[in-house]
Amino acid sequence: MDPIEYAKAFYLQHYTMLDMWHITPGVRVVLGRGGSQKCRFCLRLAPEVTFRLKAHAIPEALGNKGMLSRYECDECNKHFGSTIENDLGNWTLPMRTLLRISGKNGVPTLKNERDGWRIECDDGSELKVSHNRIDSVFEVDEAQKLIRFNLKRGPYVPLAVRKALVKIGLTLLPETEVPNFEETIKWVRDPQHSNERMVRMPVLRTLRPGPMNGQMITAALLRRSEPSIALPYAFLILSIANEAYQVMLPSPQLDPPLDATPTQMPVFPVGLGQNRDSIYSALNLSDSERVVDEVMSAVMSYDARIPK
Ligand SMILES: [Zn+2]
Repeated sequence: MDPIEYAKAFYLQHYTMLDMWHITPGVRVVLGRGGSQKCRFCLRLAPEVTFRLKAHAIPEALGNKGMLSRYECDECNKHFGSTIENDLGNWTLPMRTLLRISGKNGVPTLKNERDGWRIECDDGSELKVSHNRIDSVFEVDEAQKLIRFNLKRGPYVPLAVRKALVKIGLTLLPETEVPNFEETIKWVRDPQHSNERMVRMPVLRTLRPGPMNGQMITAALLRRSEPSIALPYAFLILSIANEAYQVMLPSPQLDPPLDATPTQMPVFPVGLGQNRDSIYSALNLSDSERVVDEVMSAVMSYDARIPK
């Protein structure tokens, strides 16, 4: 059977899509009903905690400006912003520039003054690469019009990046599902990073080649539709421009027991029908040791123009 058809049939049989969001620039969506406010992450109520700051359901650095939640208090907002969301921001830094994802301060510019190179997004939203000399940051294949970037991520803790992705899923959960994730919420909020019980499988990444809008974000939640099968209970599918991540949202009470033999499962087919050239990879994101100076490689086609 064709692998994509198989994946579609697999998810149709075993999972239900709880909800799906297409985040459109300029459109404001606020999750959570009116009335009294309770923080989903520290469980405290107003007025013990305040809810004045904008709580982005998906970090603003990833390009989300309009999707907010009413149930993240200011203290948790600051806590996540200065911890795991920083790790996620550093980890995604080169990708955000290359895919032209505009955060709080626009598309991040990558540069190294000493080596004389700069990658930035101009006003017309085109990527501009300038350099004094070719060095290890670029490798250019003039015949194929391809450029390989070897760019450093910012320092990050892999497990913290995973927590930041799981936190997005926890934020999007409907209220009725929250009791199934109490332990997971505590784990995500815990500044100590340990992974026992909460890391059961890698984060699955799908890269779809080709030009894509850097402002396009889609998020979906999947929930297992049958109780008695040895499959994870829930997933977040987060797709940003060309990248998509399938993140298990651990629920120790509903996931298969730790000693159960895991059932093989295909990667969720993102962007139905257009994913024949997709490149899949499994990201561990399970260590609690800080990673510094990791180089990420990406190949892009280019349109050479000599500046006048
Ligand atoms: Zn809170």
